[in-house]
Amino acid sequence: MATLARFAAWIARLDAVYAEQKDYLTDLDAAIGDADHGINMARGFAAAHQAIVAAPPADVGALLKAVAMTLIRTVGGASGPLYGTFFLRAAPVAGAVAEVDAAGVEALFAAGAAGIAERGKAVVGDKTMIDAWGPAVEALGASRAAGGAVADMLAAAAAAAAAGRDATLPLVARKGRASYLGERSRGHIDPGAASTALLLAAAHETLG
Ligand code: ADP
Ligand code: MG
Repeated sequence: MATLARFAAWIARLDAVYAEQKDYLTDLDAAIGDADHGINMARGFAAAHQAIVAAPPADVGALLKAVAMTLIRTVGGASGPLYGTFFLRAAPVAGAVAEVDAAGVEALFAAGAAGIAERGKAVVGDKTMIDAWGPAVEALGASRAAGGAVADMLAAAAAAAAAGRDATLPLVARKGRASYLGERSRGHIDPGAASTALLLAAAHETLG
């Protein structure tokens, strides 16, 4: 079961991870974007962590909603509204509960990822964060269908997201700022796919 305390630990972990990985993500964005992705993610999750510490949400849905609103408010660029949409769509799927079971974890991640795809109008292969989200959600479902518990599901999702991130390397970007580069976007990892792989690795470390 993924409890409210575990969801809070996930956001705290993301604050630490994005602070640590700020330069890595910004370097990826310097190659095919505008060198702000690490700064955006570090700022957003520091603010989200602060928000849930200052006003501890009463249930999982309220926590996800608070994170969403903070990300949308504090992160500029494409990634703020996209990650904000993930948490905003996931919130009502989780609902006003103290813990989420395996089916609920699959449902909330699937709804959140679908929200990003809809908002960004991206599909797998466009060289965006969806290249990590798509396989991750598939892996969650496959793991649960095979009888996996929340920890197994998130381990599979984190591995699939990392593979999806790596698979962006040879692609030409078809969405977002990197798409302006055309062929020159080839040979670089997509920064948003890298931040999504970190988000799912942190979910595995904390939620399971
Ligand atoms: P910006 O591109 O505005 O500077 P960031 O650098 O924070 O914003 O985020 C860039 C990342 O956002 C990209 O690496 C990509 O993964 C993701 N992204 C951009 N546009 C889209 C889109 N339409 N759909 C999905 N993801 C997108
Ligand atoms: Mg950028």
